[in-house]
Amino acid sequence: MHYTSTNKQAAHAPLQQAVLKGLADDGGLYMPAHIPTLPASFFEQLPNLSLQEISYTVASAFLNGDVPAGALKPLVEEVMSFDTPLVEVEPDIYSLELFHGPTMAFKDVGARFMSRLMAYFTKDKQDKLKVIVATSGDTGSAVAAGFFNVAGIEVYILFPKGKVSPLQQKQLTTWGGNITAIEVEGTFDDCQRLAKQALADKALNKQHVLTSANSINIARLIPQSFYYFYAFGQVQQRDKPVVFSVPSGNFGNLTGGLLAAAMGLPVHRFVAATNQNKVVPDYLMSGVYEPKPSVQTISNAMDVGNPSNYARMSALFGGELEQFQQQITGCTFTDEQTRKAIGDVYQQHGYLLDPHGAVAYSGAKQFLADSGVPATAIFLETAHPAKFREVMNDTLGETIAVPTRLQEFAEKEEYIVPMPNSYEALKEVLV
Ligand SMILES: *Cc1c(COP(=O)(O)O)cnc(C)c1O
Repeated sequence: MHYTSTNKQAAHAPLQQAVLKGLADDGGLYMPAHIPTLPASFFEQLPNLSLQEISYTVASAFLNGDVPAGALKPLVEEVMSFDTPLVEVEPDIYSLELFHGPTMAFKDVGARFMSRLMAYFTKDKQDKLKVIVATSGDTGSAVAAGFFNVAGIEVYILFPKGKVSPLQQKQLTTWGGNITAIEVEGTFDDCQRLAKQALADKALNKQHVLTSANSINIARLIPQSFYYFYAFGQVQQRDKPVVFSVPSGNFGNLTGGLLAAAMGLPVHRFVAATNQNKVVPDYLMSGVYEPKPSVQTISNAMDVGNPSNYARMSALFGGELEQFQQQITGCTFTDEQTRKAIGDVYQQHGYLLDPHGAVAYSGAKQFLADSGVPATAIFLETAHPAKFREVMNDTLGETIAVPTRLQEFAEKEEYIVPMPNSYEALKEVLV
């Protein structure tokens, strides 16, 4: 399979090149040249298939010919070796828990798949691969966990100073070894801009093999379609349409869902649930796409003012607003509404939503109320609540338990490289 750039100027690239380059030469994002469809028999079998079986089938449809089955199967099985259970929260509303991986956020799925694919493609290379990643919180730690101690690969994480939660920061900065954590005097958007600038810097790329680990990398996008199939198969009540509500920042997770739908998964609708960083919901209302500086919220992994995967969604919909609106409903929530959802769901159902999942839950709830269509809504619960325990404790007025896996990070020493918000400074760190 070949991959094309959303800007349509760069040449088609094979998978290896798309994965190792991250961004196409014309500054666009890679997309599969065509989206494979899966046979009816696969969809009939879904309820009986394991997450690993489903993932392998979906991965093969994309990677067939690029990675031999003998390598792909164990790779996918290792990546998807933790569960993504579907939990009923209240009638018609289910939580798809994507936080059972090593760093307890859904980004583990994409980051693990990408790291193993990059390691596969570079195993015979001489030069070290330098992976650059900008993070608003969870990406960096998932990428660090995926790449830690992988031979031949150096990882540089850029995170905005003072804008990630204390525990998220611990998960970024306590690795050492081949992982360098860079604390930028700026916002997440600054980090993302600096990372893009490095990747587009022709002179720098001549001297070093650089690549991106952000959700712009196609290797992160593909596996983010796996669990939509799995969740769909787990829904017991099959007579109602299924809606997915996705808590969105860069819209990589939602674009993964759109891939699943394009492959044939009969999703009734996607709800793009955002916090006050709402350029996509605004676009769905007004038809005007207007990036804005990001504003800080309690669902900080979604504080994105110019979502990178807008380009991919737009490519999938041929730039047609109507197509966009047919598949996606936008909705946005304030921090106050998010906190209210956390409190209400805990009191009424004893279920703990993290701030991101709470935005998605609210989107599911609002869709069911507004649409009038009886439907089963699945919201994506993207992080363990304890990753945001300050917000949780403050909202609930009680202290929530922190799993050992997270507690262990809190006890480790941090290694931080402080850096001003300047590209020259980044170059110095990289070289
Ligand atoms: C990254 C992240 C999101 C947003 O995902 P996108 O793919 O960027 O839209 C939502 N929730 C959590 C916990 C995240 O880490």
